[in-house]
Amino acid sequence: MIVSMKRYATKAEIEAVCERIRDFGYKIHAIEGEERVVIGAVGMGDVTACLESLEAMPCVEKAVRISAPYKFVSKEFRAGRTIIRLNGFEIGGDEFIMMAGPCSVESEKQIMETAIAVSRAGAKVLRGGAFKPRTSPYDFQGMEVEGLKLLRKAREATGLAIITEVMSDRDAGLVAEYADVMQVGARNMQNFALLKALGRCERPVLLKRGMSSTIKELLMSAEYIVAGGNANVILCERGIRTYETATRNTCDIVAVPVLKELTHLPVIVDPSHATGKRSLVPALCRAAVAVGADGLLVEVHPCPEKAVSDGAQSLHIEEFECMMRELKGYIRLWKESRVAEAAAV
Ligand code: PEP
Ligand code: MN
Repeated sequence: MIVSMKRYATKAEIEAVCERIRDFGYKIHAIEGEERVVIGAVGMGDVTACLESLEAMPCVEKAVRISAPYKFVSKEFRAGRTIIRLNGFEIGGDEFIMMAGPCSVESEKQIMETAIAVSRAGAKVLRGGAFKPRTSPYDFQGMEVEGLKLLRKAREATGLAIITEVMSDRDAGLVAEYADVMQVGARNMQNFALLKALGRCERPVLLKRGMSSTIKELLMSAEYIVAGGNANVILCERGIRTYETATRNTCDIVAVPVLKELTHLPVIVDPSHATGKRSLVPALCRAAVAVGADGLLVEVHPCPEKAVSDGAQSLHIEEFECMMRELKGYIRLWKESRVAEAAAV
């Protein structure tokens, strides 16, 4: 249930409400807002009696039950958008955010060259895996800490924010020292120990949809992180597994507007893993902008032919630059509809 306090409720009033909620057997999970405090509570108890009792308190504006199984990430909890502030820009706001870089960090030369190029072309976030989840144990597993250090160097040189994957709860603290955004890969969407650790982490999290996960399961995984105390979660559609073999995965593009109806969290698209083919990436980027995604996560490599992972789906730098120029007009329209949407609320 969600309890909205009256504007400028005092600390003592908020504590009294929390106390009453606890008396009914519920757990307090979040207290939000600057001028208006919203208290989230979950658990099993006599919900009707609890809601009635809370609404009788003069400092309470409204107490409502949330019907969705995911509470804090649901639109019922927050009607507006979650906007995540990173170094000098926002994700989920009125700017379309491009995240780009290689699948894996491979060398200083490779990451620096890519970082400088994608930054010049308009990306705000540099991607690059230091810990790599590979299907085969014989494939390149990532440079690990050395890779994280190279990402930090690239951030220092370009000012780009860094997104990199964290594969295990044990590495969360280490990765958080280097990353601005912690990526949870498709294979780890339901790694609950990792999700819980990220709930306690102060960095925003990009949560990729599992390759055989439903939208509801994706939202339930996001709920783990938010209920654990970290409200800054970005969702990512990266394609799901179907019977189709023409592409690496099948991009469920409608997942973007579906998620926009269900959650206040930002939603981005990864067209690289969704298609597995660089020739298809620009078309899917245009589609993502058109359906109202908040951004894109695209693989770019200075020499994809020599990439240690995902070369076939990585754009050459020139292709990325060209795609960014072509996307400009689409992003202009995207901005207009964002502004119109905000004005309509
Ligand atoms: C990646 O981003 O390189 C990656 C491994 O992605 P996914 O988890 O979507 O397969
Ligand atoms: Mn990859």
